[in-house]
Amino acid sequence: MEFKLNETQESVRDLARDFAVNVLSKRIDDIEEVGHFPKDVYQQMADIGLLSIAFEEKYGGIEAGYDSFVLAYEELAKVSPSAATALLITLLPLEAVNLFGSEEQKQAYITPSITGEIRGSMAFTEAGTGSDPKQLTTTARLEGDTWVINGVKRFISNASYPGPMLLYAKETDTGACTAFLFDKFTEGYSISTPWEKIGLLGSPCYDVFFDEVRVPNDEFHILGKRGDGFSILKATTAYGKLGFSAVFLGALGGAVDAAKEYIKTKTHRDGTIAKFQAVQMKYASLLAKYESCRYMVYNCGELANDHSRLPEMLGRSALVKAYVGDTAVEGCVLAMNLLGSYGVMKEYQVERFLRDALIGPHVEGQTDVQRVIAAGYFLNN
Ligand SMILES: Cc1cc2nc3c(=O)[nH]c(=O)nc-3n(C[C@H](O)[C@H](O)[C@H](O)COP(=O)(O)OP(=O)(O)OC[C@H]3O[C@@H](n4cnc5c(N)ncnc54)[C@H](O)[C@@H]3O)c2cc1C
Repeated sequence: MEFKLNETQESVRDLARDFAVNVLSKRIDDIEEVGHFPKDVYQQMADIGLLSIAFEEKYGGIEAGYDSFVLAYEELAKVSPSAATALLITLLPLEAVNLFGSEEQKQAYITPSITGEIRGSMAFTEAGTGSDPKQLTTTARLEGDTWVINGVKRFISNASYPGPMLLYAKETDTGACTAFLFDKFTEGYSISTPWEKIGLLGSPCYDVFFDEVRVPNDEFHILGKRGDGFSILKATTAYGKLGFSAVFLGALGGAVDAAKEYIKTKTHRDGTIAKFQAVQMKYASLLAKYESCRYMVYNCGELANDHSRLPEMLGRSALVKAYVGDTAVEGCVLAMNLLGSYGVMKEYQVERFLRDALIGPHVEGQTDVQRVIAAGYFLNN
């Protein structure tokens, strides 16, 4: 099947591509050195609609679908995986609100988030768990008409920005996992210094401390119903896995572009090194990795548009994330090899794509856990 884009897909892809090539590429040092994504660039990305691609028009979205969304995030990530991630992180709690929220919750959070005014966080991971939801220790205690939250969440992105917090916690009386929705920086909310990590430097993550944080016990502050936490988490991370797959596909695409340019310009005696069959073979295997990831991500982007196929989306997004996460790392290493010593030099960008790609097998669920989820679905369907 040929990837023939329709008019909407092409225009959304071109919007992101133009921005990436003309604006982002000139701000790489700011993104990498500051450690916080530059506010003006984030705002520009929001202004041109990069946060609103898949949302309904009534919330300020452009209703272009997840098929267009993956194309745009791939283009951004081909230049800066950090830029694509900075946006994606804001979308994670919004996807949950979009899928499970009431009209009031959607009005309150989707529009101001996609205009860049606020940035939400999704907090599930803790020191004792990332892979096993049953190990949650953060608690919600019901006292009259108020929930009182206590616990520590780990590696929480966007935690330093004002906006909604989607928090998964265990109710003390029932043991059920509930998804709470409230504003960050309410009394009792505090964060650590950012974790120092290998890549995606523009998207810092923190430990978040909840010390007797008080949240009203009403419909606005709970997403879905009490006890729905795990099913909301599963569905939301499926969209997160798709988004991160687009990001790491882009990181691989950036490395492919850099390798192509290098082998076509580096000369050896009477020609470029692209004339060597050994170089061609490596380049072809790099391309095969990229093309196979593209197919899987685009296909899953189409599937994501149809909410009635959520069970398949849960299985497929896990499969895609597992494959793309690992393959992007292998591809970036191969690209680095094609650039010789230049591959490890910052100026040539491949080392940055590799550092960013190295986060792929971990974020939004470990690769092996994704394989188990995918096998569970495809063995039964
Ligand atoms: C940059 C970054 C940003 C992040 N942002 C957020 C965020 O905003 N919100 C949030 O909630 N979390 C966030 N996370 C956390 C991330 O989602 C978790 O770290 C991830 O899900 C893995 O969990 P873990 O670290 O506890 O790994 P572990 O579960 O400790 O895994 C360790 C090893 O054990 C293996 N393993 C564990 N269980 C199984 C199993 N059942 N079967 C087979 N193998 C298994 C894993 O494959 C892995 O190799 C972020 C992480 C990173 C790196």
